[in-house]
Amino acid sequence: MGDIKESTAVTFPVGEVSGRSRVVAAAPVDGGYGVIVVETPFHPLDATWPDQPGDTGVLRWDELELRVADCVTGAVPLSGGALLTGEDIPVRRGDPDWAWLVVHVLERRVPEDELVELDVEPVRRRALSAGHTACHLMALALNEALAERWRRDAPRTDGLGRPDFDQLAITASRIVPDGSVDTYRIGKSLRKKGFTADGLREELDGITASVDARLAGWIAADAPVRIGVPSADLAARRVWRCDLPEGTASLPCGGTHLRRTGELSDARVRLELSESGDELVVETRVETA
Ligand SMILES: [Zn+2]
Repeated sequence: MGDIKESTAVTFPVGEVSGRSRVVAAAPVDGGYGVIVVETPFHPLDATWPDQPGDTGVLRWDELELRVADCVTGAVPLSGGALLTGEDIPVRRGDPDWAWLVVHVLERRVPEDELVELDVEPVRRRALSAGHTACHLMALALNEALAERWRRDAPRTDGLGRPDFDQLAITASRIVPDGSVDTYRIGKSLRKKGFTADGLREELDGITASVDARLAGWIAADAPVRIGVPSADLAARRVWRCDLPEGTASLPCGGTHLRRTGELSDARVRLELSESGDELVVETRVETA
C-alpha cells in the first residue's frame, strides 16, 4: 500500500449514490477485501466518531456484480505502510500525514487500475439520511427544551444561540434507518459547567412533548438542508447547515442528509433517564414523506 498518496474523493456529501472510478488498491481486511477507488459515492463508517453506518451496495467490474457488504474508513501513512481501518488507526481523523480512504468491503479482490461502477443501495441510504437529519434537528430541539436548566451561561451555544447541551453532554450517537439513538452523560463535569438536573425525571414527559412539537414545526417549515463541502477529500471538515425559521443552524458533520426538512413527515422522541440519573438516552424515530 506504499503508493497511496491521495485521500479518496467523496461525492456522498452532495447526495450522490452512484459513480464510476478506477481501482487504486485492494488489500485484505476484516470480512474480505478492501477495495479503494479514486472517487466514490459510498459513505464509510467514521473511525473517530462512528455515528452513521457504512453504505452497502454493489460494485460492477467486467460483467461481474459484486456486493459491497460494508464500507469503512481506512488510512495509510503518506510515508508508506499498511492499510489500517477503524479503531486500528492510531491518529485523529484528518491527520495530514496520512491518506484517508473509503474502503469498500468485498468478498473478492478487484485488480488495480480497473474501471468500476459503484452503486449505493439507495433505499437504505435515504433512510440513514433521514435518520441523520432528524438526529441533528432533535439535538437543536433538545437544547431548546433544556435551555432553562442552565444556571449560568453555558460554555458553548448552538447555531440558534441556545446552551449546547447536545455537544457538551453527548457520548455516543448511532444513526439507524429512519432514526437515531443519542446518549448523553449528565455527570459532575456537566453540572460544573452550569447544568442542573434537579427534577429532570419528573419533567421528561414535558421535555418530550416540547421536542416533538418543535420537530413538527421544523418539518412543516420545509427548511433547506445543506452540507458545506470545503473539498472532495474524505477527511475535509464538512458542516451541516439548516436554514430554520429561527436562524441558520450548523454542526460539523461527516454524514449524509435529506435536502429539506419537509422530506420528513413525522418525528418523535423517546427519552430514557438511567436509574442513577446520570445517563439520558434519546431515541428519535422519523417517517419520510
Ligand atoms: Zn452529523
